[in-house]
This record gives sequence, structure tokens and C-alpha cells, in this order.
Amino acid sequence: MNTHITLNDAAIQDLEARFLRYVQIDTQSDETSSSVPSTPGQRLLLEILAEELRALGASEVTLSDYSCVFATLPATVATTAPTIAFLAHVDTAPDFSGADVKALVHRAYDGQPIILPDAPTRVLQLEENPHLAAKIGENIITASGLTLLGADDKAGIAIIMTMADYLLQHPELPHGPIRICFTPDEEIGRGVEHLTPDDLRADVAYTLDGGEVGEITYETFSADKAIVTITGVAVHPGIAKGKLVNALRLAGKFLAALPPELSPEMTTDREGYIHPYRIQGSAAEVTLGFTLRDFELEGLEAHRERLHAIAQALEAEEPRARITCTITPQYRNMRYGLEKDMRPVEMALAALQPLGIPPLTRPVRGGTDGSGLTAKGVPTPNLFTGMENSHGPLEWISLQDMAQAVQMCLNLAQLWAKSPVAP
Ligand SMILES: [Zn+2]
Repeated sequence: MNTHITLNDAAIQDLEARFLRYVQIDTQSDETSSSVPSTPGQRLLLEILAEELRALGASEVTLSDYSCVFATLPATVATTAPTIAFLAHVDTAPDFSGADVKALVHRAYDGQPIILPDAPTRVLQLEENPHLAAKIGENIITASGLTLLGADDKAGIAIIMTMADYLLQHPELPHGPIRICFTPDEEIGRGVEHLTPDDLRADVAYTLDGGEVGEITYETFSADKAIVTITGVAVHPGIAKGKLVNALRLAGKFLAALPPELSPEMTTDREGYIHPYRIQGSAAEVTLGFTLRDFELEGLEAHRERLHAIAQALEAEEPRARITCTITPQYRNMRYGLEKDMRPVEMALAALQPLGIPPLTRPVRGGTDGSGLTAKGVPTPNLFTGMENSHGPLEWISLQDMAQAVQMCLNLAQLWAKSPVAP
């Protein structure tokens, strides 16, 4: 039998203090920067986390040259159990400021709308936040109105650190080897770019980067990016008759040829899409950027074919134009890496059960660090943290939900100790 652990008040206070400490550090990532990590604040937080892990007594604490923190919690029993890893990302989204975050703890939440004091027009209304109504009596943490909170993903970090603290203080609790990893630049799609399974040294991993309580994700989009370049024929408009080929007009035709029903604004659930997200250029040359998304590889292939077909048709119509279409893979549905052996998911569901939380396993219309890591051979479902309204000023989280995520991780550690075979 597992020992089901209930965190005591001191541990929950530590969890809160950690979270409030981490959100004060501005770790917004920056897509336009090519350095690793993309912003210096992330490196600062990674250094602090490495120091805190050493102070807690974790082993093999390292900060890699590509800015990932690693640490080991050695097994407490002789076991051939697989090594499990827990991951979270240090950066916050570029969408909204993460500078000078003033976190507010609304203790014993009374169920009223929460007015954010530094921008009183920003209000957490119950009608728009149905989950909030279920949190009466809990400690709700928000920002003050001018920034995001950064629960995405500092909640994940605080949860993992609190789990590590607990396990290191309770060596009587049986568990196999555990690895901890904090990554930079997840929000700009570079989270596991440099991370290798050799460095992670885990058989199975979990990202703590999910939202609503109970969320366990093992299905994500498969994603490609396409760059279409249309080169026309540039001629002075005064003498252009019969000569000029305007790349802008061709770009308009290209976009008009995309079926509107295949757009993110007209799709939901398991439907994929083609999304033009950027246009740049002049009458001489235009570059179009597209994201292609689908849950199935066949669907993604169909999106690629469609772009190529539009390019070919347009070139046939205007042979003097040159149209190139370069497609690069971004990430793949993690289900492909998990369906051969679903134990990482089954274990997570089992870890949830003693908490009395109903599991939410719907596919996410996006990717996670786990998509990339699963593709690299380490199956990595995503687990809930309790974060809500991520990437904006109305972001909030319940401290008690975070505590439940810690308990889920402690259950997972014990469950895997009894599984002698790696996935
Ligand atoms: Zn995240």
C-alpha cells in the first residue's frame, strides 16, 4: 500500500513562500534573442534553484551550459525501479509583462469578485471564472493588475521543490531514483531544444505545467511551421504594363485560397488547422508564415499538401512568379510515444485516485515540453498545477490546489518504486 501523504501546514506555508519568491524574479522569455537562456532573469532563477536544491540536500545538482538545472533524489530502497523525472520551466510568457510582479494572497477566499488593486478595471469575475467559485475558503494568489502572475510555470517549480523537500526529509518513504529538471524558454518553443536523454537520465518524466486540477495530458497537437516566399517581377509602375508581377497581389490570392473553415478561429476539439500568422514584404517579394496543426500525422500531411497545391496552382496561373514553400517540423503528438506503453499515464491516474480528484484527460490544442521530450524517447505526460488564466493579468492559482499537486507527485514517486521495469 502507498502511504497517502497529507502536507502539514508548515509544508504548505513553505510551498507558498517558495512560489511568492520565484514570481518576484522577472523571467519573461524573448523570441527575438538568440542567447541561451533568451533573457538573463531566467539564468538568475536557475542559479537560485540550484542553490536551494543543494541546501535541501539533493545530490548531483548541476546547471548545464544550456541552462537546465538537474538534481537527483537518490532511491530510498534497493530497487530496479525506473528513474522518474519531474520538470518545470522557469520562463514566463512574452504575451504580458512579468516585471515587478506583486503577488497578492487572498486568504480564505470569500467568493466575491477579486479586484486587482493596481488596475481596478481588471476584476476576476465569477461568471468568467467558474472554477473560482469552487475555491471558497482557499488561499487564492493573483498579481496586482499590471503584470501576469507567472504561475505558468513557477507553480510547477514550487510544487517540485516542495516534493523534493518532503522526500529528502522523509527517507522512510520508499521511492526509486528521482531526477529534477528545470528548463528555460519553454514559452518560445525552445524548452527542450538542447536537453538530451543522456543528461536527463530518466526512463519516464512528467512536466508540471498543466492547468485545472485533475488535468493529465498525454495528447498534444502535431505541429509544423511553413514559410512561403513569393517572388514577383519588380518593374517601375510607370512602365509596368505587361511586365510587373506583384508579389503582394499573389500573396492575397494565396491567403484567399485557404479554406476559412480550416482556421483556428473556426476549429475546436480534435480538428486541425492552417494558421497564417505573419506577412512581410513588398511588391517585389513577400514572405508568409504559417503554423500547421493536427492531432494526426495524416492530417498534418494533408495541410502540407494543401499549401504545396496552392503554391503550384498560383505558379501555374502566373509562371513568371517564383513560389517556394519550406516546411519544418516543430513537435509531434506525444500519444505516438506513449501508446506503446501507457504506464506513465496509468501511474498518474493512480496517483490522483487517493486525492479524490476526477481526472481530466482531454487533448490539448498546443504542445508542451513533454511533446519534444517524448519524441526524444522519454515518455513525458503533463500534470496539473492548478494555474488558471495563464499569460495575462488575470492569472490566478489556489495554494491548496498546488498542495494537491505536490501530494500527487509524492504518490507517483511511491507508485513507480513498485514497478520494476522501465517503460
Ligand atoms: Zn507553461
